[in-house]
Amino acid sequence: MNLDNIRIVLVNTTHPGNIGGVARAMKNMGLSRLYLVAPEKFPDEQAVWRAASAGDLLDSAVVTATVEEAIGDCQFVVGTSARERRIPWPLLDPRQCAARIDPLSGQEQVAVMFGREDRGLTNEELQLCNLHLNIPTSDAYSSLNLAMAVQIVCYELRMLLVQPGLPQTEDAQWDTPFCTVENLERFYEHLEQTLTEIEFLDPAAPRQLMARLRRLYGRVRLDEMELNILRGILTETRKWVARANAPDDRSN
Ligand code: SAH
Repeated sequence: MNLDNIRIVLVNTTHPGNIGGVARAMKNMGLSRLYLVAPEKFPDEQAVWRAASAGDLLDSAVVTATVEEAIGDCQFVVGTSARERRIPWPLLDPRQCAARIDPLSGQEQVAVMFGREDRGLTNEELQLCNLHLNIPTSDAYSSLNLAMAVQIVCYELRMLLVQPGLPQTEDAQWDTPFCTVENLERFYEHLEQTLTEIEFLDPAAPRQLMARLRRLYGRVRLDEMELNILRGILTETRKWVARANAPDDRSN
């Protein structure tokens, strides 16, 4: 487990006190990379107060305007959620999730994203993720305080640093790097354009097609070479569509 390759991303946090609580939870467990996507109030003295001796994590926190900027260079992204959403995604508890991250964290950039205090992460944000993490709770009240949720996830990551032991998965020995969120997003854009051009995707009735394709590719995890092959296929497909749509020269 390399905790230095794992970042905690907080999206649109409302209360600066929670940001401080998160910094403390992370530092206690040996994580240091905090990303804040459009926080409502930051920097703020409440954050400093709640961080106690983890003020250095607040100082080095990376503040971004968008989620894409915070995770664009990551090869593996986990989204946390207190409830199951419309399209079910691969869903793990914190312990299973730490075991999944462990073998990747040596070479890859990993992000664990946490949502807004009142509304969590949006469906679009959750669809950027390879898998979802849910902390099992009582049915009577499933929503934890943000910093406490971060604490539990970071604790499970730490436990695998202290007690390594799981065998390496095949991902760790793969010969080609896995693609980043940034490249994957470009691919999805290309895919959506092509599917629209060949009229497989009707923008007026998209029927969650792109969400389902995102889930599929997120499960498979494409490497950079596989991604280039798929993009090559899309480029050729679009050329054929353009040829088919071009006015017939012979009629002139
Ligand atoms: N009402 C929101 C809960 C937001 S709690 C919702 O229904 O989604 C704020 C954040 O804390 C969540 O976005 C998530 O990142 C984390 N969190 C809280 N409880 C959680 C749980 N049981 N499992 C996983 N993450 C949780």
